[in-house]
Formats: sequence, C-alpha cells, structure tokens
Amino acid sequence: MKKQILVVGGAGYIGSHAAMALDAAGYDVLVFDNLSTGHADFLRFGRFENGDLADRAALDRVLESGDIRAIMHFAAFINVGESVSNPGKYYRNNLASTLNLLEAARDHGVGNIIFSSTCATYGTPQSLPLREDHPQHPINPYGRAKLAVEWMLRDFSSAYGLRCCIMRYFNAAGAAPASLGARIGERHDPETHLIPLVLRAAMHPGGKVGIFGTDYPTEDGTCIRDYIHVCDLAEAHVLAMERMLAGEPGTALNLGNGLGYSVREVVECVQEVTGLPVRVEYNPRRPGDAGILVGDASRAASELGWRPKFADLKTIVGSAYDWEKQLEHFKVENTYGRAGAEKCGENSEGKKHGFPRAASGPRNDRKLS
Ligand code: UDP
Repeated sequence: MKKQILVVGGAGYIGSHAAMALDAAGYDVLVFDNLSTGHADFLRFGRFENGDLADRAALDRVLESGDIRAIMHFAAFINVGESVSNPGKYYRNNLASTLNLLEAARDHGVGNIIFSSTCATYGTPQSLPLREDHPQHPINPYGRAKLAVEWMLRDFSSAYGLRCCIMRYFNAAGAAPASLGARIGERHDPETHLIPLVLRAAMHPGGKVGIFGTDYPTEDGTCIRDYIHVCDLAEAHVLAMERMLAGEPGTALNLGNGLGYSVREVVECVQEVTGLPVRVEYNPRRPGDAGILVGDASRAASELGWRPKFADLKTIVGSAYDWEKQLEHFKVENTYGRAGAEKCGENSEGKKHGFPRAASGPRNDRKLS
C-alpha cells in the first residue's frame, strides 16, 4: 500500500511541485490548503482537503482520516517586505498556526515533519557561503517567525520524539518543465519575486522592473541571491522524507546551488534567454533585504545524496519563461473563453483539479498587458 503523506500548503508554488514529486515517487498525497494564496488548479496530484491551519478541528479530521506517515509543511506567507509592514500576519499564520499543526501531529502520532524554512533565518552573513551552523540572526519578521518555528520543532523533538527536517531554502525559482504537462509554476498575487517580474517586464510592451537598491556592498551594487530550481527543491523534500521514514534522525539543510547572482545579472540573463530588452528603474532598498545570501548545500549533498539537476541560472530562467508564456496563454483563454468552458478544477478529460481550459475563444494569438 502507498504511504500517505500530508502536504500542507500543497496548492502553492513549492508545495504543488512537492506534491508532484511525491506522486511520481509512488506516495499517496493528501493536500491540506485553505487556498488563500494557493490555486485550485494546482491540485493535480493526490487528494485535497480544504482547511486552515488555524482550525484545529479541521486538522484533527485530516489527521484522523488515514495513516499519515509524514507531513510536509509549506503553508506560509512569503513576502519579506510585507512582513516588515505587517508582522502580525506573519507571526499569526507562519508561527501560531504551525504550533497548531505540531500539536495536532503530536496528538495523532505523526512523527515526521519536513518544514519549509529559509535562508532569511541567517540574517546578514558573517561568512559566505552560508553553512547550516552559521549564527541565525534574522533581520525581518519573516525570517524571525521561521526561526521561531525551527526552535519549536527542536523543542517538540526533545519533548515528544518528533523527527523534523528543516529545509532552509535559498531563492526558489523556475517551474516544472511544460513537457511534463504539470501546469504548475510560480503564480503569486501580487507577484513580488524577481525572476517573474523581470520576465513580465521583458514580455509586456511598456513593462519595466524596479531594482531595489544599488548601493549594496556587492560588485554592481545590487543584491546577490542563490536561485534554486523548484523541482530540485521538491526532490530534496522527497529524499529527506525517505531518510526519516527509514529511521534516520532529523536534520537541518540548506537548499541552494551555492551560486550567487546579482539583480542586474538576473536582468541580463532574462534578456539573453528571452531575446527581449528589459527596462529597469532604480528604486531605494527594500526594507528587510540582506545584501548577499548564498548557501553551502554540501550537507544536503552528503546526507541526502541530493544533486540539483537544474543548477544553471539560464535553465532556471528558461523554465520560468516557459511558465510565464503558459500563464499568458491561460490568461487569454480564461478572459475570452470561459463561457461554456469546463468548470474550474476539471479538465477536458473530466479529471478533477485540472487546469481550467477553454472550449473556445482566442488561442495564443494575443497578449494581455
Ligand atoms: N528585487 C528587486 N526588484 C523586485 C523584486 C525583487 O530588485 O521587483 C530584488 C530583492 O531586493 C532581492 C532579490 O531581488 O534582492 C530577490 O528578491 P525576491 O523577492 O525574488 O526574493 P527574496 O530574496 O526576497 O526571498
């Protein structure tokens, strides 16, 4: 019988890719998501339970519903800038609701958790690339709430024997290759992440992207980040989970490529990949941003045997570009072709949770701005 895995936040960007990877690896996927930022049409792998982490009764129902062997927890708000202006939102959802999940896991005897943490827990680097034993002094509420969860996990681990893998992501980007027909990718509303915003600036006539800060202590003055393909992240989750299911202890792992690219280099890469010019404007620093975040992921390599398959920035940007083009296509279909089209959440084969498709209307023959 397939092992059941609960994917909390599985309708979101990274969660949906993890659900896909789990499904492909032969697991029985159960997604729990309140669809507040996730997408019903990303629910293409496994079963779905609509619920909120703040709702303990909903969590109890899900955890009682089967024999859940492990939980992957992706459900969180993710905008560093917003966390500075609205910290309560981050502490309530990312921290307090996670406490609910941990207590529910404890009470229902689910002993394995894989948690989406972040390189933002390190704060301003004292040495680079960042290793897992680097001091953690986050400089924004997003990072502080994630670090608080890391502490909570360790305390639950000591008190109740909960095993946990803490996954510290660097900058997730890219999308599942279109050839897989997965129809999942980065789709935030509003979008705040660099790569999709630069791609949109390139793709839309009159578009432009703002660069936040040109006075960082980096060669070209813009921030440096370590971009990691979302499918590589997803694979690391499956490997980490299998390690725990095999009885290995929990761990904390950086997930990055160890390659730093500045904002300007990302803009140049987008121009190269798309063949389109990108107009930029220079803005002040964004509150909460660290100048350089680049990770050393050698622990994930040695403990999990993890080797990113899509490490090259051009490959990452190329897959994000393919996804943005798909989104344009869907936008046209959804705007002009929804009347008489299949219901949202069903595809033409009647399979539940497929991407909404139009039965008629313009195809990919025009773009919307
Ligand atoms: N960034 C930017 N303009 C944008 C969005 C992001 O210059 O419109 C910069 C941001 O300041 C950071 C980098 O791009 O240095 C990556 O930001 P993103 O929001 O993609 O991820 P984060 O590093 O905040 O997780």
